[in-house]
Amino acid sequence: MQQVNKQDIRKLSLQELEQYFESVGEKRFRARQVYEWLWSKSLKNFDDMTNLSKATREHLKENFDINHILVDQFQRSNDGTIKNAVKLFDDQIVESVLIPTSKRITACVSSQVGCSLDCNFCATARLKRMRNLNPDEIYDQVVAIQEEARLYFDRPLTNIVFMGMGEPLLNYQNVLAAIERICSPTGLGISPRRITLSTVGIAKMIRKLADDGVRFNLALSLHSAINETRTRLMPINQTNTVEELADALKYWYSITKRKVTYEYVIWDGINDDERHARALAKFCKHIPSKVNIIQYNPIDEGEYRQASPEKVSLYLRILEDSGIVAKVRKSRGQDIDAACGQLANKIDW
Ligand code: SAH
Repeated sequence: MQQVNKQDIRKLSLQELEQYFESVGEKRFRARQVYEWLWSKSLKNFDDMTNLSKATREHLKENFDINHILVDQFQRSNDGTIKNAVKLFDDQIVESVLIPTSKRITACVSSQVGCSLDCNFCATARLKRMRNLNPDEIYDQVVAIQEEARLYFDRPLTNIVFMGMGEPLLNYQNVLAAIERICSPTGLGISPRRITLSTVGIAKMIRKLADDGVRFNLALSLHSAINETRTRLMPINQTNTVEELADALKYWYSITKRKVTYEYVIWDGINDDERHARALAKFCKHIPSKVNIIQYNPIDEGEYRQASPEKVSLYLRILEDSGIVAKVRKSRGQDIDAACGQLANKIDW
């Protein structure tokens, strides 16, 4: 385990770093050089900062750490999906996934170690929440996947989704700070339009996103537009009901003018009937939206099973009749347990 008594230098903003350099009698512009090494070049140690004097490098080493993540385990699926088990500075593990398609390479990143939300069908929920990830820990997952995209596919990373472990809106500040770094020209220079934040649905925070003028995309894990069923699947629905979410989404759309994607798993005997399909179609009318029907990745022998293809077709027909765009997403990386939280569950904590 790395020492944790020194300050992590990437907790400092550029301004703070400039102030620090001035306070120790160094030139202000050195701060910008260090900042670039740390962020756009993702350097992992001070010795490689070749435009700094040896004395400055030694000084930084004595006073700061660079708490870089480490890809601890790496698995490659036969469909090309790559799954990283990422070790953090305090030895906690999160996971991130590279998902290749013919047009895109998408990074799926985690925002928390574990999760506090108790969605009944999700593997991460079994882990409980340990802590929030820092902005640099989120950023580093993207950098690691960007390197893998170059190395294994000779293509650039094109998209980022916050669909790994944790609830991004319960780590609001750090997730937004990470996205700001990812989009910045002094970071990775990726357009916010290529980033999607997926949330369990916390009405207050969806409104806050709109108020904060974010420019990335929003996805909501809906799974049912009927309160009784949704509460059974996702206990957060007790305090963030379908109606409250609809109101928050209307507010989001009135400000951002950005469509929302609804993620939706159809489970056998749980939400696979016409009543649920019609409720979803009705919900989709609130604001411009589309539906991603996700295949369920079973996490155990429990009550949740993927619905039959006939039931999926029933949904598609009802949505299409209502003029709603819906796509069926094939599960990726099933042979390497790429479903939310599965790999981390298998690692000895
Ligand atoms: N907390 C956020 C992001 C993490 S989960 C959210 O709830 O959106 C990312 C997506 O995977 C969510 O839509 C979630 O409902 C879904 N999911 C979780 N476990 C799954 C599983 N075993 N199979 C398929 N989808 C799953």
